[in-house]
Amino acid sequence: MTIDLRSDTVTKPTKGMLDAMMQAKVGDDVFREDPTVNKLEARVASMFGKSEALFFPSGTMANQTALKLHTKPGDQVICDKYAHIYNYESGGASFNSGISCKLIDGNKGMFKAEQVLDAINPEAYYYSHTSLVEIENTTNKGGGACWEFDEIKKVRAVCDEHSLGFHLDGARIWNALIAKNETTEQYGTIFDTISVCLSKGLGCPIGSVLVGDSEIMKQAIRIRKIFGGNMRQAGYLAAAGLYALDNHVERLSEDHKKAKEIGETLSKLPIIRTVEPIETNIVIFELNIDVNENSFVQKLADKDIHIISMGSNKLRMVTHLDYTNAMHDKLLSTLQTII
Ligand SMILES: *Cc1c(COP(=O)(O)O)cnc(C)c1O
Repeated sequence: MTIDLRSDTVTKPTKGMLDAMMQAKVGDDVFREDPTVNKLEARVASMFGKSEALFFPSGTMANQTALKLHTKPGDQVICDKYAHIYNYESGGASFNSGISCKLIDGNKGMFKAEQVLDAINPEAYYYSHTSLVEIENTTNKGGGACWEFDEIKKVRAVCDEHSLGFHLDGARIWNALIAKNETTEQYGTIFDTISVCLSKGLGCPIGSVLVGDSEIMKQAIRIRKIFGGNMRQAGYLAAAGLYALDNHVERLSEDHKKAKEIGETLSKLPIIRTVEPIETNIVIFELNIDVNENSFVQKLADKDIHIISMGSNKLRMVTHLDYTNAMHDKLLSTLQTII
């Protein structure tokens, strides 16, 4: 039994999802004639109470498109030092949009509205023009932490006062909604644009969606084309997304429960220094300084359990759709015997 907890992207489509994909009605999406893509876009737009949505092959491309929609070359985007757009999108903000990131030294990838206020550049010509604030919910590098919705509202107020766009990287927004009992509509009223992933916790083989109001989204399809993200009979993929929205959102609470149980087991092991608070499906923990992280990862790998090292003696496990109860039992018992 292989147990792969490196990421929630390692899932394979379920039988139900594959059936839905095989039955999809498709057309050429470049002509906007794929009925299943159109259906997915309309569905996600309406979930968030937005007028427009666009299907993307990746979350990176959806975020990069959002950055371009909100900025001009030379502008600056305010984001956390842990932000995916800064750390894990290959420098795309500067490459694609010619913008820089003003990093906030936040906590678990999150920050306060006052810190945004401090990060806005004055309007003098020799400063970079601040045009956008970007946050992530849940935070990836922050260990799946969820924002307090009240703080998000305060950040929105700062954006309004200073005419800044507000983008949400909602790759794992579904996890936040389930963990905090929040709604998509709530998020739609706050953000100008939101990117959501279908290929993370929801178990699709591919796909993200960018939603927004019609004014800001006008150029989105052109930018997607420039980035090479136009697709043809993409309805087969969109069908997986529709299936996932129907069947794989509520169940995220199971992933969260398992992650918490893993955290409880880890925190009792003498070789572990700390386990970061677990709010969703990501478990980040730190080994004692005298325990070598690579040999710990290797010890688990020898038992066919695969996790990721994050450097600084920190390790990560992510629970997901393909992580079964049997795997969970095996993992917990293996951990208890590993010293
Ligand atoms: C995974 C992820 C993305 C990008 O998604 P890809 O589909 O892998 O390009 C963006 N933001 C966050 C927070 C992510 O975790």
